Amino acid sequence: MHIMVTNDDGIHAQGIKALSEALRELGDVTVVAPDRERSAVGHSLTLHSPLRVFELRAGYYAVDGTPTDCVNMGIHSLLPFRPDLVVSGINHGPNLGDDVTYSGTVAAAMEANLMGIPAIAVSLATFDHNGHFTAAAAVAVRVARQLMANGLPADTFLNINVPNCPPGEMGPPLITRQGKRSFVGKIVDKTDPRGRKYYWIGSEVPDFNDHEGTDIYAINRNHVSITPLHLDLTNYESMKILAGWTL
Ligand code: MN
Repeated sequence: MHIMVTNDDGIHAQGIKALSEALRELGDVTVVAPDRERSAVGHSLTLHSPLRVFELRAGYYAVDGTPTDCVNMGIHSLLPFRPDLVVSGINHGPNLGDDVTYSGTVAAAMEANLMGIPAIAVSLATFDHNGHFTAAAAVAVRVARQLMANGLPADTFLNINVPNCPPGEMGPPLITRQGKRSFVGKIVDKTDPRGRKYYWIGSEVPDFNDHEGTDIYAINRNHVSITPLHLDLTNYESMKILAGWTL
């Protein structure tokens, strides 16, 4: 089995190291990841400038682009074979609820899914530098094993969030739906040393709605959260309502 690993925290992040090492248990691992942190870039693709690739060591490629660029580069250029699985992570921080739309980690899995390759995004729900990355990597290996044995439903990729606790304190995985967060918008404005104004987005910690059955609810109770995602953003209920408009 050939596995491609990527992330949005950059190739030198602790999470990608733990993940790529753990996945070697299942097959050959090639790492293609951004050369620096590219968190919250979402599904962005670099089209207006060239990309450079640096092979740091065998099977370990740094790209000066986004996670979505890395999946493209890996699959269409760098990997000798089409991978059987793409795993993105382990993100340093949760990717829950509406935040999945900002996430470079989730977008990388989404890109692989668009290419018809089974894909998993894995995030560790902490910003603590002593996070339980090894425990989260073990969860990723377990899920990957199940995925390879059972396959995934069509047009589906997985968003996994792992609570930051030792394996013994972790609840069994829950299959969850994407939750909601209450947006507390905040822009900080200050003045730079040359007297010009500058602005900084979102310094507040987001407030998540703790509804049963959601990814947020699972993480709040130290369960691993596994959310099957797909790319169809259509609101089917609204289609019926809009059909009644006079257009
Ligand atoms: Mn990140």
